[in-house]
Amino acid sequence: MRLEGTRCWVIGLARSGCAAGGLLRRHGAHVLGLDDSAPDVLNARWEREGLAATAAGCFDEVLPGGRRPVGDWANPDLVVISPGVPGTHPLLGVPAPETPVIGELELGVRFCRAQMAAITGTNGKSTTTELLAHLVRAAGRRGEALGNVGRPLCLVAEELEPDDVAVLEVSSFQLETAQTFSPRVGAVLNLAPDHLDRYPDLAAYYAAKQRLADLMPPGGLFVTWTNCPEAMAWPTAATQLWFGDERAGAGVFFRDGALWAGGPGLAPRPVVGEPELAQRSPTNRLNALAAVAMGLGLDLPFEAMADGLRTFAGLADRHELVAVRGGVRFVNDTKATNVHAVCAGLADHHEQVVLIAGGSGKGEDYAPLREVMGAVRHVVLIGAEGPAIGRALAGRVPLSEAADMDQAVAMAAGLAEPDATVLLSPACASFDMFANYRERGTAFAAAALKAGARRP
Ligand code: ADP
Repeated sequence: MRLEGTRCWVIGLARSGCAAGGLLRRHGAHVLGLDDSAPDVLNARWEREGLAATAAGCFDEVLPGGRRPVGDWANPDLVVISPGVPGTHPLLGVPAPETPVIGELELGVRFCRAQMAAITGTNGKSTTTELLAHLVRAAGRRGEALGNVGRPLCLVAEELEPDDVAVLEVSSFQLETAQTFSPRVGAVLNLAPDHLDRYPDLAAYYAAKQRLADLMPPGGLFVTWTNCPEAMAWPTAATQLWFGDERAGAGVFFRDGALWAGGPGLAPRPVVGEPELAQRSPTNRLNALAAVAMGLGLDLPFEAMADGLRTFAGLADRHELVAVRGGVRFVNDTKATNVHAVCAGLADHHEQVVLIAGGSGKGEDYAPLREVMGAVRHVVLIGAEGPAIGRALAGRVPLSEAADMDQAVAMAAGLAEPDATVLLSPACASFDMFANYRERGTAFAAAALKAGARRP
């Protein structure tokens, strides 16, 4: 792709947009950054994300406030959009119809010589992306966790070598704008309702994920879970490998206290003993299976994968123990922003749980939560969706409502018996009360300390 001397727009100026602008400029393009936010909002975002120092160097000019470019900038040669920018954005109607429009991921892909592994699905993407990058590094190769995990591909695309691996967490939005992206290994971890505020229906959300199967090349490896009949049935040019239930045809599975891996032309053999896994919760065991299945497609040696699984530290904000008070554990799962993640996470608990749930909604049905209340003694509801979750759980489990996180945690701590867990697992986004899910998790941990708990 020749960029020297071209004029490019980048729409959406957070991390991905800045990384895209930086790459374009490194290759000699003139870059206009466009964003809907007012200048002070944009500057505050750059400050918050630690981008303030670099952002200025990523663009020749910045036009905030959703304004329409004029003069020399009116007719760009290329438009790059950030993952959060919808395809219906009004600025996309301004350039001539033949002007190419690509996503930040697609731009990075065009400059990346490394092997690529793509991970999508409803839950577990970030964890599995970091885990697979860790397994690659355990094999002595450069493995970079990139994409929606917080480091855009465009930041490092050109510096990666052919033996390196770019492990990419890709959202359905990025798959929709992908064109030449054709990863060597791709995985759909699971499929459950989410983002129904952004898709007309579930079929449209799943169709966006299916794009990954379409993009996979012959000779590639497409990985999915045996509990995902939709994805198992998707046609793809790549070889398919399933993880999960051996009886349902999985090549990577747990048997006799060990994680086993096999694949097309490879008889299954044990990789590592289950008790040796550094992260052993039910959800993390699934993510381990997925990462090993993908590792086979990257030719990672079994011993290296075993080492990586023994040393993976896990991620903050996902079932993270943040405080203890006596025998009571305070567990932060603020990243559980949909019902599926809450249901999967509750399977990790056999002790009594006081659950804190609620936040801003995404059009989901909360009824499935009724089925997973076995260990839950009480639910403390917060935020805009608190009442809706309360209606779904009415009569199933005792409920209380709290005005803010401090009150919710104090109430939950008061209700928790010794040896119980106070679990923040909201089933909702955070934007009604917090800037993002991380801030919500931080508020939870701080509230636990105020309630007399100490760091573990
Ligand atoms: P994503 O990037 O897809 O949002 P994360 O790794 O950030 O995934 O985890 C999001 C939420 O999903 C957390 O609550 C986490 O505990 C839960 N989770 C992690 N792995 C899985 C899985 N395999 N199935 C269901 N939930 C999971």
